[in-house]
Amino acid sequence: MQYFKGSHATLRDVREDFPIFREYPRLVYLDNAATTQKPEVVLDTLIRFYKSENSNVHRAVHRLAERATHLYETARHTIASFINSRPEEVVFTRGTTESLNLLAYSLSLIENYSAFIVPEFEHHSNFVPWQQLASRFGKEFVPLEIRGFEIDMESFERIIHGQKRPFVFAASGLTNSTGYRLPIDQVIRTVHKNGGVVVIDGAQLIPHEPFDFKQSGVDFLAFSAHKMVGPTGAGALVGKKELLEKLPPFNFGGEMIDRVELHDTTFAPVPQKFEAGTPNIAGTIAFAEAAEYLLSLDKANVSQHIRMLTSYCHELLSGIEGLRLLSPQDSHGIVSFTHERVHPHDVAEFLSRNLDVAVRSGHHCAQLQMRRLGVKSTCRASFYVYNTVEDVESLAAGIKQALRWFG
Ligand code: PMP
Repeated sequence: MQYFKGSHATLRDVREDFPIFREYPRLVYLDNAATTQKPEVVLDTLIRFYKSENSNVHRAVHRLAERATHLYETARHTIASFINSRPEEVVFTRGTTESLNLLAYSLSLIENYSAFIVPEFEHHSNFVPWQQLASRFGKEFVPLEIRGFEIDMESFERIIHGQKRPFVFAASGLTNSTGYRLPIDQVIRTVHKNGGVVVIDGAQLIPHEPFDFKQSGVDFLAFSAHKMVGPTGAGALVGKKELLEKLPPFNFGGEMIDRVELHDTTFAPVPQKFEAGTPNIAGTIAFAEAAEYLLSLDKANVSQHIRMLTSYCHELLSGIEGLRLLSPQDSHGIVSFTHERVHPHDVAEFLSRNLDVAVRSGHHCAQLQMRRLGVKSTCRASFYVYNTVEDVESLAAGIKQALRWFG
């Protein structure tokens, strides 16, 4: 399969970009929903920054400071064009969790947002902030009941129609525990028709699918660099400019101010208003390098490749006796499963110790989703750009061995 636009690079070439596979040639890395591996260009960007570009941003006028500021603001343009937003709509954060906390806190301070509605299947990062801040600021918190791993569209429509406006609806574009894809267009249409704003937790979606912020109509979008071949500790909150302008800041400190008086302060324009203190400069520049790397791949081929791996995984795993698949048939990039007798941690540990197959086991920071499925934890295999058909086959063979071993 051709992976790079206009070149003859193959999946093998893509794998060679990732030094971890040279370090561990047997590694079958299927824990990409937790974090992805990093290509050489991203690692080089981090080292180059600290070696020869290191300075703070937005402050001094010396040469290094100007260079660092230029790289940091260029990163904002790159991330904006990656999701088709305006650069001033991109707020750099430490990742999805911080983006969502920032947003939930700032929206809580706006009086007329009276309710926060969140599906039960959410990652705790997109559930607990809304739940906790609603209770602290006297808002209504509405957990949206789910059916298995899906939104129940009937109860969604009913709840949204009955809401006092304006309200907030926050949901993952792609859930991390089962790989369920939210019907985003339909959700946005319904929420907007009823006077609400839509927050999409894009931690899993953005690494996997081309997303057009402007065209989608979504109001806010959060995502993390480390799940899209970038470094940890970097991410973004993207918001419609007119909405970001209305939000009060989350953190106070250096570089987010306009003018400070003894008893009052006015704030910088967006996005600086939300970026107090020294940001993760190297990480953010490397985040943009990660986006460039993904842009250099043929998006349609990559998406199709991951879809093929996921569906092959469904096929192989559904043939294993006693295994229960806890992902929708058309899940994207993620397959969750349990076995009727063997605990997920035992399966995951066996796979790693004996075969160097890395999968995640646990509740995937989605305890309420686990409860709905009637389990405490699952094993989860998740795929990304460098995974191969052989990886899926190693997983299936490894599970069979584990089941034999545990009798
Ligand atoms: N939301 C979803 C859907 C996720 O998968 C994750 C990470 N597992 C998060 C939020 C939190 O992301 P981060 O840890 O990068 O802040």
